Amino acid sequence: MIGVAILGSTGSIGESTLDVIARHPQRFRVVALAAHSSVEKLLAQCVKFRPEVAALVDADAALRLEQGLRDAGLTTHVLVGEAGLDTIAALTNAPYVMAGIVGAAGLGSALAAARSGKRLMIANKEPLVMAGDLLIAAAREGGATLLPIDSEHNAIFQCLPPGSETGRAPQGVRRILLTASGGPFVDWPQARLETVTPAQACAHPKWVMGRKISVDSATLMNKGLEVIEARRLFGLAPEQVEVVVHRQSLVHSLVEYVDGSLLAQLGSPDMRTPIAHALGWPERLDSGVQSLDLAAAGMLQFEPPDMDRFPCLALAQQAGRAGGLAPTVLNAANEVAVAAFLEGRLNFCGIPAVIEDVLSAAPTGEAADLESILAADADARSRAAAGVSGR
Ligand code: MG
Repeated sequence: MIGVAILGSTGSIGESTLDVIARHPQRFRVVALAAHSSVEKLLAQCVKFRPEVAALVDADAALRLEQGLRDAGLTTHVLVGEAGLDTIAALTNAPYVMAGIVGAAGLGSALAAARSGKRLMIANKEPLVMAGDLLIAAAREGGATLLPIDSEHNAIFQCLPPGSETGRAPQGVRRILLTASGGPFVDWPQARLETVTPAQACAHPKWVMGRKISVDSATLMNKGLEVIEARRLFGLAPEQVEVVVHRQSLVHSLVEYVDGSLLAQLGSPDMRTPIAHALGWPERLDSGVQSLDLAAAGMLQFEPPDMDRFPCLALAQQAGRAGGLAPTVLNAANEVAVAAFLEGRLNFCGIPAVIEDVLSAAPTGEAADLESILAADADARSRAAAGVSGR
């Protein structure tokens, strides 16, 4: 039995992970669950999966969880705060860790899992964007195995030669192609984009996801962050990562080799496939995902992304090329701008505008250590907040 810890268990990745694990009760045991503040959901998960440890970042929520567990007659130990996440990430009886906490908030626990030599299944792209070099170095030193859950990166990992090492250029690869669904506004003219509401942005046509990543998909920032993520994970140069819009979301990404071979991974758009792949790797596990009926799908289309209507992709590519702290600044400004958009304080086209201002005024420097990364993150957040209220 392999012990698994799930960071972000009440989010969409966490729920899909538990769904896959529940299909393999002889193989996996849920040792720890952690979330931000969703008491009811976490309590229900504890009742069903009986973990030894559960954590909530929010202290009041943790107290309510403790009470609920006692009422349910469970002895699950409750941890509180970000320190609780770090503890869970490093538990010796949970060699597998699913990192599914949205945003920069997942960085500390991802680093803790990497240093503890875990199989780190990384679903949140922000830690890789902010501190990819640190995370990969920590994984190397701690003896951790980093497996990507983001569907595109998992697809690429599946198409790379066996034995490819995280952060090192794979043998014989010319370039990779990241596919993008284009988001819900792929055909909207510029003027109409000004009118996008949070509800429209969160209704993704192909994937069921959390709110932050849904907005990122709609602005194409998600793809921009994924370009940076891919370069970090696979040790590629900027010109080796391309983006192609593929509306059907059936081809999850492609790898082109120097001999001209193009390998793709296809499947129904369901996160349980990459999750089952990472849980089982190098073996294959049943994920509960149904077969993809290609004849019913009929057509696979590919087109270039429109960088004029969706400037977030270009901003991310620019930050990725600049390197150093620029991706950290980009990510922080984006998190603030997206939160403001979701709260109705910024319009859709204001998201790239705020990010561009913060990026252009950001001090450049090396992402040498966690302190400088967190300082750049905090500085970019305060400047982005000022930018939002100034609009
Ligand atoms: Mg993705």
